[in-house]
Amino acid sequence: MNIPFLNFSQMHTKIREKMVNAFEEVYDSNWYILGEKLKEFETNYAYFSNVKYAIGVSNGLDALHLSLEALSINEEAEVIVPSNTYIATALAVSFVGATPVLVEPDIKSYNIDPDKIEAAITSKTKVIIPVHLYGQPCQMDKIINIANKHKIAVIEDNAQAHAAKYKGKITGSWGDINATSFYPGKNLGALGDGGAVTTNSQELAKKVSILRNYGSEKKYYNQTIGFNKRLDELQANFLNVKLNYLDEWTCERKKIANIYNAELKGVGDLKVPYVIEGASHVYHVYVIRSKKRDELQKYLFKKGIGTLIHYPIPLHLQEAYSKLGFKAGDFPIAERLANTSLSLPLYPGLRPEEQEFIISSLKSFFNG
Ligand SMILES: *Cc1c(COP(=O)(O)O)cnc(C)c1O
Repeated sequence: MNIPFLNFSQMHTKIREKMVNAFEEVYDSNWYILGEKLKEFETNYAYFSNVKYAIGVSNGLDALHLSLEALSINEEAEVIVPSNTYIATALAVSFVGATPVLVEPDIKSYNIDPDKIEAAITSKTKVIIPVHLYGQPCQMDKIINIANKHKIAVIEDNAQAHAAKYKGKITGSWGDINATSFYPGKNLGALGDGGAVTTNSQELAKKVSILRNYGSEKKYYNQTIGFNKRLDELQANFLNVKLNYLDEWTCERKKIANIYNAELKGVGDLKVPYVIEGASHVYHVYVIRSKKRDELQKYLFKKGIGTLIHYPIPLHLQEAYSKLGFKAGDFPIAERLANTSLSLPLYPGLRPEEQEFIISSLKSFFNG
């Protein structure tokens, strides 16, 4: 068998005709930037996310950056981010000149530990960016209570958790302003780069929509130093099609995850994902943990099973952040996760016999 870590082909074959049609609509419209298809997607995505406003932007990193810009975060600020996340969360903070302050995750859920946030807050702290890592929502009620108490803003990094819910409320609707990504491999993915900002604040929505378009609301009248960080008509219209399938695809992800959970629990020293109470986990990636991770990854590779490590090097040990002055041992939980985590194939269209082969391979690695 040859089972890649990610394969779009089942998903994309099914919607091929609709996607080709979406391409033709834009192609024939003669209008490719900031047009009707983007407006349609923004309306659809705001509705889906249960917020008043969605603003389509160029990618997830830019969605985070524009959210920080809209909140006027600058060099003087500190911004709390989890110590285990994709580097984009911290990079956006660095773009505005602010300092990322790392807070360790909870070892069970892998998400930022709300009980450790207050110790990291100083008079300079302006924002907390919880990341719904791997598709599991953070404990947003606790995080928002802390933020309110200290008059700090919250930006959800919702790049990995489209359609996830915590206590019945969808992610991307909790924070003051929230960022997501439509990178092809995300649960809702474009056919190229894309992202969005979601908010209930008319003022913040307006700021983002001006900043993404050269700081201009009216063509050739520039009111602020802006950027070119727009979502184009083609990607917006592809997303209009794919958004209709997101709930179905999310269900399929959960089904596959539940089979892994049931079959892999208790095998060797494997740890399967722990879902916190009140969370609806959407399994952007299915992460298991083992002390024999590297050996296991090699074994699966030999069997034709693709796996990835999310993420092999924690933020504080990345060369890009050497100037923060951290060393190995400073964030032991993030380091432990980096050394033991392994992501298995999980995507809509993964066939039952493929999943069975992955499971039996894992069992044979541990049980011989
Ligand atoms: C993918 C991702 C981003 C960045 O999104 P891009 O569209 O690739 O720029 C940000 N944060 C997290 C947690 C991500 O997984």
